[in-house]
Amino acid sequence: MVQLKSPREIDIMYAGGQILYATHEAVRAAVKPGVSTMDLDRVAEDFIRSHAGATPSFKGLYNFPASICASINEEIVHGIPNTKRVLRDGDIISVDIGVFFGGMHTDSARTWPVGTVDADSARLLQVTADSLEAGIAQCVVGNHVGDIGAAVEAVVVKGRMTVVRELVGHGVGFQMHEEPQVPNHGKPKRGAKLVPGLTLAIEPMVNLGTASTRTLADKWTVVTGDGKRSAHFEHTVAITVDGPRVVTRP
Ligand code: MG
Ligand code: MG
Repeated sequence: MVQLKSPREIDIMYAGGQILYATHEAVRAAVKPGVSTMDLDRVAEDFIRSHAGATPSFKGLYNFPASICASINEEIVHGIPNTKRVLRDGDIISVDIGVFFGGMHTDSARTWPVGTVDADSARLLQVTADSLEAGIAQCVVGNHVGDIGAAVEAVVVKGRMTVVRELVGHGVGFQMHEEPQVPNHGKPKRGAKLVPGLTLAIEPMVNLGTASTRTLADKWTVVTGDGKRSAHFEHTVAITVDGPRVVTRP
């Protein structure tokens, strides 16, 4: 069931989304060689809880044990923070965070370079970020969910990379995961219609090599089928009569 949000509820999501944005910036400042993914989890959780009424959405969700998902290099999403997973110069690290504030969830992911990364990795981050912006631009009243996926995929194909199909964006707000699903591929004018009050997490996951995925024995971490690198960018976007309102950035 699609649950639309009132302008007031969207304002609350914006307030929580600003905490989430600032959390990403705090994590970004901590990303450097020698830091573990558990260190980043602590930075994020402490920062979120330092805001009255804010809690990490992911902790305990489906029994996930941490406040962030931290996925290095060929890990696409859902990496579990671990003191033994230490960042090295040249890595890329995808950080996915959810914040619950004022009764509403927001969801956002960024991928950071660690130190100096190779040209392919730098391009991967740029193409993935660009594909998210293309998807956001389609979040206007009267468009369809398929317009978002088609726009994301077009940027990725042009960049000669691949879109992950097994994992999708989603409605978000009252719960972390709501209807509708928002695939990162699709056909224009297909799928659910975009109406005012719809709030979507748009989250392209883009691979340098094959689009195929597999899940590790920890039952969480999703990695690329060929071991090549993957990036993940995500924002929570409200559909409004004035156009897309990205609530997870200023
Ligand atoms: Mg997310
Ligand atoms: Mg999401």
